[in-house]
Amino acid sequence: MTAQRIDGKQLAAQLRADIKSEITTHLKKGVRAPGLAVILIGHDLASQLYVKNKRLACEEVGIHSFVFNLSADITEKELLDLIHDLNQRADIDGILVQLPLPSHITTQAVIETIDPQKDVDGFHPYNLGRLAQFQPTLRPCTPYGIMMLLGTLDLTLKGKRAVVVGASNIVGKPMALELLMAKCTVTLCHSATLNLQEEIEKADILVAALGHPHVIRSEWIKPGAVVIDVGMNRIDGVLKGDIAYETAAQRAAWITPVPGGVGPMTVAMLLKNTLSAWRRG
Ligand code: NAP
Repeated sequence: MTAQRIDGKQLAAQLRADIKSEITTHLKKGVRAPGLAVILIGHDLASQLYVKNKRLACEEVGIHSFVFNLSADITEKELLDLIHDLNQRADIDGILVQLPLPSHITTQAVIETIDPQKDVDGFHPYNLGRLAQFQPTLRPCTPYGIMMLLGTLDLTLKGKRAVVVGASNIVGKPMALELLMAKCTVTLCHSATLNLQEEIEKADILVAALGHPHVIRSEWIKPGAVVIDVGMNRIDGVLKGDIAYETAAQRAAWITPVPGGVGPMTVAMLLKNTLSAWRRG
């Protein structure tokens, strides 16, 4: 078997075109453009690149981006004060704080200070809670994008066994909730899972989001499975996923590449969430 490639780049481009078209129609009627505030702290190169990509994507579709480049020694209070100000601003619909944050700043305090209605990353406990209750509002971008990708396949999710490897608040846990909401039977694995191979062998849908390229072995993949690779590992300057694409593609029915799979969808869903927040505002 050679798997079909799930093309996230193409679907993301289509979504951006749809978003651009909707915004353009409203702008012609004199409505103000959606606004997204992006806060970047310090000089982490990967974070700078992510923020640049988000800014360019905003420009492409007509979202006004306000990028705040803050010094790494900003205090937590100064950052929270800025978020309070942005929460009040009528020209800003979405607020995103690029993670990770410097160690002197409490990530949870930052996430919880963002107005849940402007939380376009979908990380606020209110938005995660709504997802847990299957009443989603702003949904975490990466799992939401993966659900859109799965929706393009000729596949019924209901009743499928889904295994998510990685249980972070921003990817693994909301991914498990999304799949549960789609009526999959979900197993969520993490670093203390006792027999990862045994779990993965049962997966009709495998989502790898652990951030390590050599843990999951291609021969564990159930023949005919859908494999979604969230991992982004930079090895000798080359971006690699958590799954060995070539060998995994010999067993899977569908598989996402890295790059060009989940990554572009994450950015597209950020735009989609900003659009939703703007429509409500
Ligand atoms: P994270 O916060 O470091 O979480 C990693 C998760 O994987 C944790 O739950 C951890 O378990 C688990 N894990 C680590 N080693 C494991 C092992 N050997 N076996 C089983 N589980 C293991 O990472 P994250 O933020 O969720 O990101 C995960 C990966 O996705 C990273 O490569 C990141 O760069 C990538 N990512 C990609 C996108 C995209 O748009 N493509 C978006 C976000 C993240 P514990 O909970 O027990 O520690």
